[in-house]
Amino acid sequence: MPPSQHSAPAVAWRRTTCTYFAADHSPGRGDGLLRLNAASNSLAHNVSFPSDIAPEIAPHGRTLVSVSTHGEHGLDENTLTERLRQELAAWFGPDAAQWQHLRTYQIPYALPVYAAGQAPQQELRVAEGLYRCGDYAAYPSQNAALATGRQVAEMILAVQ
Ligand SMILES: Cc1cc2nc3c(=O)[nH]c(=O)nc-3n(C[C@H](O)[C@H](O)[C@H](O)COP(=O)(O)OP(=O)(O)OC[C@H]3O[C@@H](n4cnc5c(N)ncnc54)[C@H](O)[C@@H]3O)c2cc1C
Repeated sequence: MPPSQHSAPAVAWRRTTCTYFAADHSPGRGDGLLRLNAASNSLAHNVSFPSDIAPEIAPHGRTLVSVSTHGEHGLDENTLTERLRQELAAWFGPDAAQWQHLRTYQIPYALPVYAAGQAPQQELRVAEGLYRCGDYAAYPSQNAALATGRQVAEMILAVQ
């Protein structure tokens, strides 16, 4: 989350576009894995099939396909959707070109920038009685959000 107005250091953010499709069959083979794309010039940076784990979140009897596109791509929604279908057909076969587009979400503050060499964690105590936690105080992941939350809770307990 973007920090509120207080004395914590400013944070730079990375944008993500999340595109969702409905497919007739899951190409995920039920393994529950997130597919990462190492080709940096691609629009589909990672793909997952969350309904392989929770079928109720897809349209009835179908597979929910989740595609993340990182950063600024400069494409309108229709163009991005078509380009993704083309890329995904190369990954998962020609059926992907027919996947039904469901929704596209722009998330401008998706992840805090975490640069090479950056400290793994910033100061969590902002001032006396004022603490912060979350991924932006460490590195971009749920693990950092949970870990800094626990540390702050322990710091507060320690002064009581
Ligand atoms: C598309 C996407 C995919 C991701 N995939 C993964 C993954 O596979 N694995 C992984 O580890 N991480 C992943 N992440 C990162 C992970 O979601 C974040 O690192 C994590 O959710 C950060 O948790 P947080 O509690 O710091 O912030 P957030 O989850 O952003 O929670 C902050 C909360 O504060 C609320 N809030 C904001 N401002 C205010 C305010 N002024 N007053 C009250 N409430 C406010 C917000 O509404 C929000 O509910 C992904 C992120 C994105 C965007």
